[in-house]
Amino acid sequence: MDPLKALADAERKPYWLDRAIAPEPSPRLVGQVSADLAVVGGGFSGLWTALMAKERDPSLDVVLLEGREIGWAASGRNGGFCAASITHGLGNGLDRWPEEIGTLDRLGRENLDEIEASLARHGVDCSFERTGEVRVATRDWELGGLDEEAALGASLGLRMERLDREQMRAEVDSPTYLGGLWDRDGAAMVDPARLAWGLRDACLRLGVRVFERTPVRSLRDGGSLLELGTPLGMVRASMVALGTGAFAPLLSRLRHFLVPVYDYVLMTEPVPAERLAEIGWRNRQGLGDSGNQFHYYRLTDDNRILWGGYDAVYYNGGLITAGHDQRDATFETLARHFYETFPQLEGVRFSHKWGGVIDTCSRFSAFFGTAYGSRLAYAAGYTGLGVGATRFGANVMLDLLSGERTERTRLRMVRRKPVPFPPEPLRSGVIQLTRWSLARSDAQEGRRNAWLRTLDAFGLGFDS
Ligand SMILES: Cc1cc2nc3c(=O)[nH]c(=O)nc-3n(C[C@H](O)[C@H](O)[C@H](O)COP(=O)(O)OP(=O)(O)OC[C@H]3O[C@@H](n4cnc5c(N)ncnc54)[C@H](O)[C@@H]3O)c2cc1C
Repeated sequence: MDPLKALADAERKPYWLDRAIAPEPSPRLVGQVSADLAVVGGGFSGLWTALMAKERDPSLDVVLLEGREIGWAASGRNGGFCAASITHGLGNGLDRWPEEIGTLDRLGRENLDEIEASLARHGVDCSFERTGEVRVATRDWELGGLDEEAALGASLGLRMERLDREQMRAEVDSPTYLGGLWDRDGAAMVDPARLAWGLRDACLRLGVRVFERTPVRSLRDGGSLLELGTPLGMVRASMVALGTGAFAPLLSRLRHFLVPVYDYVLMTEPVPAERLAEIGWRNRQGLGDSGNQFHYYRLTDDNRILWGGYDAVYYNGGLITAGHDQRDATFETLARHFYETFPQLEGVRFSHKWGGVIDTCSRFSAFFGTAYGSRLAYAAGYTGLGVGATRFGANVMLDLLSGERTERTRLRMVRRKPVPFPPEPLRSGVIQLTRWSLARSDAQEGRRNAWLRTLDAFGLGFDS
């Protein structure tokens, strides 16, 4: 189908946030309040931090400050793949922390189990479906990567199933598929906005004071308490947790480690059951392909198909602006790839198209730390795989603030920082060269040029 026609009536908004069930925002902060813990950011990082702080100690007075509305940013507009991996995939984890990969994998899987249990305990209905995720190969040279990951999974005792072409097409039928690897326990599909809203409700029920439309403009040490300045008020808190994602960090040192990268998504209208039957997909797994530039796609509870990824865009200078949420050239590419993957769905149209910003760091997985004599903790850098991992990061922040040494805080992954990005304008040059090289590598059977090999040697890269 002509991509332009298929996109013509699509709303320029995130589907998940564009629903009547969106709650009224909580009030702004007006005046001065004090708290034991102030959490900045109302995405998954901040929400899990506030919720688990109250679970750890119900007497703790917790305030959550969100600059706009809960879940409006990455947390409410993502693909909804809630992965067990806290290392942006097994391969990335193995490359960076070979001595810790077993522990990191176990902690990630425990985290996903705990998310499932926590959602049940707090009555958060976000269509959580523990379907697992299949990585598909669509080019011959990608099959080796699936074999390697299958072997690694087997060595860690994971329930990963290598599917040949016929087995893969029996699960989900695309003429482009050459094989797949199904990590059966490693991911759940969620409705991300309902997850954010549900966590907000759970926080409110436990007594967290939530202030929306309350951007924190300043942070300073006011002696025994830290002071967070907002347009109409101030919070004075003994401890602060920062979960501010890709946005300009309140702690200037974090700027060196984070770049804002835009990722784009399409959502189809609901696909009628008889049309969906043409491609199978009875087990409703999340799917992703294996190139450097990859697509991710999944079903919603009303059988829409979310189709995103491929172009991960860094706008030179690193500006975050609403204008970047829309990129017609990328939407057209995505739509074209959709019909190439599923020609059976000719005629199915898109209802929504949107983008969002992710907090990319050079090691593709979160980093952590403290400031102000360990009265402030932060976690950022999830690089496009934070739906599940932010809960792990929230636990790390709470461990760091408590001063307790835990299995989590002893990890090298937690103790070490990623390599910083160079300052602009070098930053833009380096990132655009890397993006160009990755696209070229996909076009040349995965061969990596001298630039990518140099980055590989230093454990650096660019991903979404
Ligand atoms: C299009 C897209 C698709 C994605 N798909 C997936 C996926 O399928 N699976 C996956 O695991 N991950 C995915 N991700 C990444 C995932 O959404 C993020 O890793 C995760 O949501 C990060 O949560 P967060 O709370 O750290 O950040 P955010 O959700 O960005 O929240 C940060 C919040 O902090 C607030 N804030 C910032 N500064 C201040 C301030 N000074 N004062 C007050 N508030 C402030 C912001 O307003 C924002 O609400 C995707 C991301 C995008 C954009």
